[in-house]
Amino acid sequence: MAEEKRIPRVVFAGLASCFGCQINITNIEAHLMEVLGQIDLRYWQLTSSDPMPEEYDVAVIEGAVTTEEAEATVRQLREGAAAVITIGACAATAGIPGMSTEDHAADLAMVYGDAIPAVVAQGAAIPKAVKDVIEVDFEVPCCPIDPQDFVEVLQHALYGSNAYRHSSTLCGQCKNNERGCFYGRETLCLGLVTRSGCGARCPNLGRPCNGCAGLSPDANLEQARRVAERTGVGVDAFDSALRIFNQPEVRA
Ligand code: SF4
Ligand code: SF4
Ligand code: SF4
Repeated sequence: MAEEKRIPRVVFAGLASCFGCQINITNIEAHLMEVLGQIDLRYWQLTSSDPMPEEYDVAVIEGAVTTEEAEATVRQLREGAAAVITIGACAATAGIPGMSTEDHAADLAMVYGDAIPAVVAQGAAIPKAVKDVIEVDFEVPCCPIDPQDFVEVLQHALYGSNAYRHSSTLCGQCKNNERGCFYGRETLCLGLVTRSGCGARCPNLGRPCNGCAGLSPDANLEQARRVAERTGVGVDAFDSALRIFNQPEVRA
């Protein structure tokens, strides 16, 4: 008799984040129901108060790792899951929580004064991307994620397709849109160093890219800084913009 195939068991975990990426997933009900029919959703704080189960196949993680407890959680998720998917810039690059500098204690005091909540202070660590703690198989980039991208990546994880990640910078996709370049208008745009994939969504809407998809492996930061200097934008302004979603890269 043929062995019955088990439906993949999926858990969602939220670390330091605004939950915006998870909420964005709930905005695509029709597609979500299609996907939910293919998975056994074992744990999702947004939809149920059931505890995290001991066994699962796919772990979906949102948020940056900002405490020792969060670090232990992602290590445990990695041990239990055959596939780990991160969603959003907070998980992929440390994102907005990652804007904290190496003097993390001073940054916490600046935000909370002397009333730092115990849940924040206990075991607080410099915010890290999930991939800096464990191996990540699939990544859904941007802030917030495009929920259709999530569905596509989840299908890759469920059916064993190769992990596919864009590696070139955004400028190629942007040029296809024929909207001109911000640098010609002395305006900073991080598309020069940002991973492509979003179709240059922001420049196409008339706004510079702020790098939410993370740095492209093809990014040449030094060359980009030279462009910023030559076009009157300035290197300090470039590095300052890079801190919004790519602070660990500025620190490195
Ligand atoms: S990536 Fe953006 S939308 Fe997603 S959790 Fe982080 S801050 Fe929120
Ligand atoms: S506007 Fe931004 S993304 Fe578009 S070509 Fe210029 S630097 Fe690249
Ligand atoms: S254009 Fe840049 S900031 Fe806008 S969604 Fe794409 S990567 Fe993110």
